[in-house]
Amino acid sequence: MKANIIDGRERAGEAAPNLNPAEPSDVIGEYARATAEDTGDAIAAAARALPGWAATPPLARADVLERIGATILERTEELADLLAREEGKLLAEARGEVQRAGRTFKYFAAQVLEPSGAVFDGLIPGTSARTRQRPVGVVGVITPWNFPIAIPAWKIAPALAYGNTVVFKPAELVPGSAWELVRIAHECGLPDGVLNLVMGRGSVVGRRIVEAEEVDAITFTGSTATGRGLAAAGAGTLKRMQLEMGGKNPLLVLDDADLDTAVAAAIDGAYGSTGQRCTASSRLIVQAGIHDRFVDRMRSALDDLVVGDPRDEASRMGPVASAAQHSQVLEAIERGVRDGAELVSGGRALDREGYFIEPTLFVGGASGMWLNQEEVFGPVACVVEVSDLDEGIRVCNDTRYGLSAAVITTSATAAQRFEAEAEAGIIGVNRSSAATDLHLPFGGRKQSSFGPREQGKSAREFFTSTSTVYVAGALR
Ligand code: ADP
Repeated sequence: MKANIIDGRERAGEAAPNLNPAEPSDVIGEYARATAEDTGDAIAAAARALPGWAATPPLARADVLERIGATILERTEELADLLAREEGKLLAEARGEVQRAGRTFKYFAAQVLEPSGAVFDGLIPGTSARTRQRPVGVVGVITPWNFPIAIPAWKIAPALAYGNTVVFKPAELVPGSAWELVRIAHECGLPDGVLNLVMGRGSVVGRRIVEAEEVDAITFTGSTATGRGLAAAGAGTLKRMQLEMGGKNPLLVLDDADLDTAVAAAIDGAYGSTGQRCTASSRLIVQAGIHDRFVDRMRSALDDLVVGDPRDEASRMGPVASAAQHSQVLEAIERGVRDGAELVSGGRALDREGYFIEPTLFVGGASGMWLNQEEVFGPVACVVEVSDLDEGIRVCNDTRYGLSAAVITTSATAAQRFEAEAEAGIIGVNRSSAATDLHLPFGGRKQSSFGPREQGKSAREFFTSTSTVYVAGALR
């Protein structure tokens, strides 16, 4: 059994099997479920380790992060195979994700030495003031199953870089990648207690972390419903919160678009990672003059998209991640049909073992219909026809979410208007809404995000606390 890792020591518990969604009879391993008591011990360990880690010289912290990053990169093939096997994304996607995780640790290793704080003249003559960025404290890291190593990396690396300690709860579906990551961190010299792994249920382990007095901040990625619950639960102790949640992201295709670019962006945006990305392009908003050509090309691209075992290099799309996702996505497709959208491609489960669903495309959907308002989190997209740029932008913004949005156009004027008016935290021009770089701010508007942006230099804002220091008189 793979045990929880608390204060550098393994602690066994009730066993939960980790299953391969492409072949649910394939048990990857047994992973220990932490109890609320285990979680309390992990929090106490992180609190004890905090003063030592916060006082560790920056170069020493950077060295550990650098080694973690290098080790992840060296072990890319093995980690990617595990990731594809437990989550169901393609090996090529899994490789990319593992590399992103490794590079994220290296990026934050370098950030440790970047300047922080600022110096001011005081208002009273002869005085000065400066700001200092100090660790926030014990950080709870709660992650979803769709990026089993990259999301933990982009939360844990900055937390550690800026001197915080961590209690990490991965999603129940994907404990394998999380366990390897925490083992690697210890093998690379991270002191005991600085990063603690507690696997298990959100309602037990996650809840204990969110409600704990000794936890100073929570960084979470998951559904909007769960995030809303976390914000309420965390309010009791007024802890700092960073919540990355759902999206219903539009890809706007204008009449002047290059059709190849539009189809490539839509296929990648809607069906990459089996549509299980919070940045997925699930609404394809297409101007009337290009609509029929776009839909024809999408239909033939989907006919050619090989769905199969994610660890077979010939596959172009894998299964959804679990039995629960499988039934939810099929129900969403049924609802789309019932509500009057026209199914032009896919729509069914594959007749084989594993949680496979055909890549599915609807047309003729109204913007307000359920399918165009709710996040499906599967290989399902719906085309909404619009007459011009004004209507296109209006429909793009017709959602309570605001994570990412993209436009496909050859017009600079249209691109500029989209950039200014799309209500999204991440905006793409002539590319899908989904891909993002590790060194740039990541986060959304409206009900997609709460709290400061993740990644890049903006991560410092969440993972440090500002002290303003006033100095008056002479010091000896
Ligand atoms: P997903 O279905 O995409 O995993 P969720 O929002 O359900 O999205 O879960 C995201 C993460 O939040 C998971 O690690 C999950 O276990 C955790 N979680 C779920 N419920 C709670 C809760 N009440 N308190 C804290 N964490 C939770």
